[in-house]
Amino acid sequence: MSGFQYQNGQLYCEGVSVAKLAEQHGTPLWIYSKSALVTRLREIQTAFAEVDPVICYSVKANGNLSILKTMAEAGSSFDVVSGGELFRVKKAGADTSKVVFAGVGKTDDEIRFALECNILKFDVESEAELDAIASVAKSLGVVGRVALRLNPDIDAKTHTKTTTGKKGNKFGMDIERADQLAEKVLKNPNLELSGIHMHLGSPILTTDPYEAAAKKAVEVVKAYRSKGHPIHWINLGGGFGISYRKNEGPAASEYAKVIVPYIKEAGCRLTLEPGRYIVGNSGILVTKVIFKKQEGGKTFVIQDGGMNDLIRPAMYDSFHRLWPVAPSVAMPEDVEGEIAGCEKVDVVGPICESSDYFAKDRYLPPMQRGDLLSIFSAGAYGTAMSSNYNAKPLAAEILCDGANSKVIRRRQTYEELVANELVD
Ligand SMILES: *Cc1c(COP(=O)(O)O)cnc(C)c1O
Repeated sequence: MSGFQYQNGQLYCEGVSVAKLAEQHGTPLWIYSKSALVTRLREIQTAFAEVDPVICYSVKANGNLSILKTMAEAGSSFDVVSGGELFRVKKAGADTSKVVFAGVGKTDDEIRFALECNILKFDVESEAELDAIASVAKSLGVVGRVALRLNPDIDAKTHTKTTTGKKGNKFGMDIERADQLAEKVLKNPNLELSGIHMHLGSPILTTDPYEAAAKKAVEVVKAYRSKGHPIHWINLGGGFGISYRKNEGPAASEYAKVIVPYIKEAGCRLTLEPGRYIVGNSGILVTKVIFKKQEGGKTFVIQDGGMNDLIRPAMYDSFHRLWPVAPSVAMPEDVEGEIAGCEKVDVVGPICESSDYFAKDRYLPPMQRGDLLSIFSAGAYGTAMSSNYNAKPLAAEILCDGANSKVIRRRQTYEELVANELVD
């Protein structure tokens, strides 16, 4: 949780008091640390420096324009999965010529937009997509650079909703199909096969799946080169795990240790698509206790923020560290299990769904109406997956930089909530 620390019993983001920000801007409130964002990117850049990688920050983890701009200024490129995300990258003023574009359902309009932006490559997920890229490229009189997204049939041992590189899920193609498509690319003047791509799932807390994938990548690159394809790129996707609970997230250098030797052996350039690793621990969601109630033998602490803001617990059964912004008990390193001076509570939101919770049976210092709670490690797939469910406006976002803070997204108003709706 670099970027966030308690000082004299108060939570700070860099040099800025979280309680002060909540007072100024209201809750629920997203707060990010700029130095944490840049530090995490630097860790990856440094760990893989030997093979001069192109790091493509995964926009879907958090696409706020100021975060994209911060990443671009720190030397990152971008991984997008839609035309909208590519639009965000452009809007943030970033160079689109090193953007990679993945996703199983790219529309012709999205493909055209990406070709017009002269992106580095499409990560192609099916034969039909390859045909669509060829046809749009032809109509524009350009060449579409493609990487075939392989399904290496590797079990990344993550949640069933976030595993992507195992046989039977919708992503990528098996090696035999990739061989056929590679032949097709060779014959088409509007296509160029420039690499192979794999994304195994997320978050992946061990390095073994990456080692297995890198090894497979080398075999495939060698085989394709012998057939005359000029393969320049190996893209091993994203998925690097982070510490949600304690210190379970490996350092970038550990992933690099198993990946780099294979990249050198293949003589390829490496692209990576980290999202969570960079932004996950760099952001928190601050909520306020509205009510507390006891029912059915349980104590519920009801927050003003809910699954409309942060859906991860409801969607992935995910664990987030929670602790008050001004706690009566210092946050221990281990927040699972019983904690002295704390009470066992369910931390829930206001949304009318039983799945609207942040934690169940969690020990927290006693909290009262009006107290502020920090939900840690909320930077990735937090605001990116927020919705207006229950007609809750999207929360504001703040970026802290040393002693300074700025609003990087205003809180949505009720008027904005209905602005696109038409009534007679
Ligand atoms: C989601 C996704 C990523 C990013 O995953 P993280 O776990 O956030 O690093 C990278 N590449 C592709 C193709 C993705 O779909």
